[in-house]
Amino acid sequence: MTTTRYDVSRDELAALLDGAPGYRVDQVWSGLYEQFADPADWTNVPKAMRAEIDQRLPSALRLVTESVSTNGDTVKFLWELEGGSRVETVLMLYRDRATVCISSQAGCAMGCGFCATGQAGFTRHLTVGEIVEQVARANRQARDADRRVSNIVYMGMGEPLANEATVWQSVERLHGDIGLSARHITISTVGIIPGIRKLAERPLPVNLAVSMHAANDELRNELVPINKRYPIGDLMSACRDYLSAKNRRISFEWAMISGVNDRDSDAAELADLCRELRPRAHVNLIPLNPTPGYPTVGTSLKRVHEFRNLLESFGANATVRQNRGTEIDAACGQLAAGQPVTLSAKPL
Ligand code: SAH
Ligand code: SF4
Repeated sequence: MTTTRYDVSRDELAALLDGAPGYRVDQVWSGLYEQFADPADWTNVPKAMRAEIDQRLPSALRLVTESVSTNGDTVKFLWELEGGSRVETVLMLYRDRATVCISSQAGCAMGCGFCATGQAGFTRHLTVGEIVEQVARANRQARDADRRVSNIVYMGMGEPLANEATVWQSVERLHGDIGLSARHITISTVGIIPGIRKLAERPLPVNLAVSMHAANDELRNELVPINKRYPIGDLMSACRDYLSAKNRRISFEWAMISGVNDRDSDAAELADLCRELRPRAHVNLIPLNPTPGYPTVGTSLKRVHEFRNLLESFGANATVRQNRGTEIDAACGQLAAGQPVTLSAKPL
């Protein structure tokens, strides 16, 4: 793979610019990690040096389309990577924060039937440069709206803990060089136990979200096939160890599928799992987003709220999450490269 501009550390950049004075290295680093700009726009850096960087450290992401929701608060980027795979990044602007949802793999090997990425299969892991540049490019866009990215969720395409070492390097870059707080970084996993254990040994206290979706093995084996290898009992024990290492709360993600995992008995079983952890796990409920390859529909909002109330009555805490970005196919689980470009997409 080609080394791209967000692959290199500051020391590697200094070595690459061998002989350039320290203040020049600072300027280039600031162009990348403070201005999030293209080398062409680093007006304080000599033209020849900008051209050299552009050539020796190319960008990892070629923008294919950028789709903006009608009210402008959600932006989806479709990128093409070296080798032709496509991945997506979503920027969500809220009143009090700006969150970027990033991809960690092109496709995904986990095969969850309800997920558009899973339906597409696995192509390859992303590199550090490809992951970090997603944040840099989204930040560039946020700055146009006078905003700054504050939160990162690894909830785009792919399973981050199947690519843990690289994902961790990207976390360190986001924390150390972009300056994001580890508490504002969330890694979402389908429940890869060795990955959770590895993450527990890492120094920064990032948030862990576990995509649970079913609270008994029979149903979870169906919805999330990797459960056959990492069943709920073992997963819960990995979660307990993560909690004791990090002292952070874990969240359980629950995509609500009508008649499948939204019954009263599901709420009771889920609440039991939440209460097993200290502190208790927090449930995020989101109605399933429709995807082309899965015939079942999402739970009605009325039932989602009933389910939330049931969970609370059983002693679990739960939040109903907004479905951001559905109109531009940018919602959870809808990210699948190569889907038809929506009407609101503007080809660039
Ligand atoms: N592979 C990781 C992270 C990417 S998926 C994981 O599974 O956690 C991000 C989130 O979107 C997960 O919680 C996943 O279960 C959820 N998701 C996938 N397909 C969905 C769909 N069709 N509707 C709603 N959520 C979905
Ligand atoms: Fe992969 Fe997550 Fe989709 Fe499952 S839900 S197929 S783990 S991206």
